[in-house]
Amino acid sequence: MTTLADIGELKAIERICALLPAGSDVIVGPGDDCAVVRSRPDADIDWVLTSDPVICNTHFTPDAPPTGIGHKAVGRILSDIAAMAAAPRWCLLNVAAPVGTPVTVLEEIYSGATPLASKHGLCTVGGDISQSANLEIHAFGVGAVPAGAAVLRSGARPGDLLFVTGSLGCSSAGRHLSFEPRVREGAWLRDWATSMIDVSDGLAADAAHVAAMSRVDCELESAAVPLSDAARAAPDDITPLDHALRDGEDFELLFTVPGERSEEFTSAWVSAFDLQCTRIGRVIEGTGRALCVSADGTVRALNGAGYAHFG
Ligand SMILES: [Mg+2]
Repeated sequence: MTTLADIGELKAIERICALLPAGSDVIVGPGDDCAVVRSRPDADIDWVLTSDPVICNTHFTPDAPPTGIGHKAVGRILSDIAAMAAAPRWCLLNVAAPVGTPVTVLEEIYSGATPLASKHGLCTVGGDISQSANLEIHAFGVGAVPAGAAVLRSGARPGDLLFVTGSLGCSSAGRHLSFEPRVREGAWLRDWATSMIDVSDGLAADAAHVAAMSRVDCELESAAVPLSDAARAAPDDITPLDHALRDGEDFELLFTVPGERSEEFTSAWVSAFDLQCTRIGRVIEGTGRALCVSADGTVRALNGAGYAHFG
């Protein structure tokens, strides 16, 4: 019997997708940060749809503060909506919890989720509570974007440059419960980015997703990757660069801008935001690989690196 561990997340998704019907009102089906749907053929906006689970012992440890768990549940869907260059609108939150869970824990989860949602215009309009062996929050989010303007993973072209917001690595040291989803930046990037993804599986894996969907190679310069303080300080044998490439859950935006617009882009970014934005590589002709170029010119393929959901 084939298990999820045998085939991994991507193959499992592929097998499920083969069972899904296609619809003429579906602009982008499974495989991007959000699905994109259009309610009428002449509609002037598209809706982006996403859902994410946050599960005890997978996405947080049992001692994690409930406010942080709520923040993470909403932050993850906000980050996916941002990665489509859309504006957050509504969300539903389901909580599944063991019967012995104190009611205050539930209240704290919501008091962690609600301020972040409100800050970004995401209105919680419902959800459900059910019994479970394990504490789980399942968030479903909807965002809006002008029709046809969602930025997809598939738009990177040779000659584009790769950029990433913030710094990367070791978010498990704490940042994964308190990160700031790049919502304003994502919507702003609609005018610049040819492709975009949020860094959830790790820079290497997410660059490989863009490369595969765009049918190009993404070449990262190892010396350019912005390393988080946590990655630099990690008390283990893994290099800060490998933390940045593989850890995941940074929830920064990874995107591409045409090379000829990059100078104009960089000055526009600096005028618009205080947030660090780093050029980390380029897009070249290729076959869907993420490559890492060291200072000495050595090239290594990164596909397969990153968080494996059933590894
Ligand atoms: Mg995503």
